[in-house]
Amino acid sequence: MKITIIGGGPAGMYFAILMKKANAAHDITIYERNGPHDTFGWGVVFSGRTLANLREGDEVSHAAITRDFQAWDNVDVVHRDEKITIHGNSFSGIARLRLLNILQARCEQLGIAIKFHQEISEITQLRHECDLLVGADGVNSFLRQAFAANFKPDLSVRPNKYIWYGTHQLFHGLTLTFRETPAGVFAAHSYKFDKQTSTFIIECDSQTWANAGFQTMRDDEARAYLENVFARDLNGHSLLSNNSKWINFVLVKNANWTFENVVLLGDALHTAHFSIGSGTKLAMEDASALAESFKTTRTVPQALQEFETKRKPVIEDYQAAAGESMLWFENAKDFMHLSPIELAYALMTRSGRVDHETLRRRDPAFIEAYESAGGAV
Ligand SMILES: Cc1cc2nc3c(=O)[nH]c(=O)nc-3n(C[C@H](O)[C@H](O)[C@H](O)COP(=O)(O)OP(=O)(O)OC[C@H]3O[C@@H](n4cnc5c(N)ncnc54)[C@H](O)[C@@H]3O)c2cc1C
Repeated sequence: MKITIIGGGPAGMYFAILMKKANAAHDITIYERNGPHDTFGWGVVFSGRTLANLREGDEVSHAAITRDFQAWDNVDVVHRDEKITIHGNSFSGIARLRLLNILQARCEQLGIAIKFHQEISEITQLRHECDLLVGADGVNSFLRQAFAANFKPDLSVRPNKYIWYGTHQLFHGLTLTFRETPAGVFAAHSYKFDKQTSTFIIECDSQTWANAGFQTMRDDEARAYLENVFARDLNGHSLLSNNSKWINFVLVKNANWTFENVVLLGDALHTAHFSIGSGTKLAMEDASALAESFKTTRTVPQALQEFETKRKPVIEDYQAAAGESMLWFENAKDFMHLSPIELAYALMTRSGRVDHETLRRRDPAFIEAYESAGGAV
């Protein structure tokens, strides 16, 4: 089969790897507009269960990924200068660039051609020259726009602003920090992803953003402002920019996931708010699900249909949980009256997927402290 993939992110490369492993005769080409060492952002997180799926899919890349992992089991919530720790949550972090380099090396080893520095802007010919065309070209997918009449995308630009920095202050655990300022509330999502660096994503509502005056601030001024807001958390370390810009999260859904020989994967197909840290996991699991459907069906349209039928309910469930989490952060100021332990409890239960008894199983001491403080169930 001749397979053309637009986008050399986690979704596109992982799908290529799994298909090539299933049948070495597949002729697979990935077009990637960036070079192999360019990327946005800092680190990504995976849950324990994701890792088991990755091991099943490809032991070689799984071994390389886990060798570089920073693992933790705690979520830390910082509010009014007090840190509440909740154990029993298994997560790991890795630099996004490291993950991409591991997948690139694996593609090369398997004989998959990655054409770097090639931005696709014309699709008709490519589509007719291959048996399967995969749009793994991220949240602003060109392929999705080119075939909008078929996919019927639904894009919702969310009101909060966020900016993705790094820092050399190490956060040993998924740390959610809240700082109340005269301009409004800022929340930081941070975690260590290698021995020297943490991701530090800062989020605020549009009113806080306007009150702080970010609209007219230069990038270095905005960074200095935020270093001051989070001075006690950064412990003297600066925020590191990777061309970091304020953006609004875009919630992506598509009524149709496939048509004829074309399919979308990963962020091009769906997004889940970064507060549940599952964008990369979902992208790679999409790749596994699509590759799996080619094992059991004979024609491309049948395989694509099977992928959509089986995978859509899983994604809808994730998007529902991520949606609750996103709304919580969009309304974070309404929770600031809570005590630190009440806030930690509200955060842990925000998606509706983790209840009181689950939390008790994960961390009995946390629930005991919450109940002794008179927290409501
Ligand atoms: C602030 C923030 C924090 C996040 N934190 C996490 C986290 O902690 N954990 C997590 O798992 N996920 C996280 N994510 C999400 C994660 O980054 C994405 O969900 C994931 O990268 C999706 O993978 P993908 O392969 O679908 O798309 P991408 O990684 O976006 O890859 C798409 C690729 O396509 C290329 N491309 C685009 N258009 C073209 C074109 N026309 N021609 C050729 N190439 C093209 C791009 O250069 C890119 O390399 C976060 C996202 C954001 C914004």
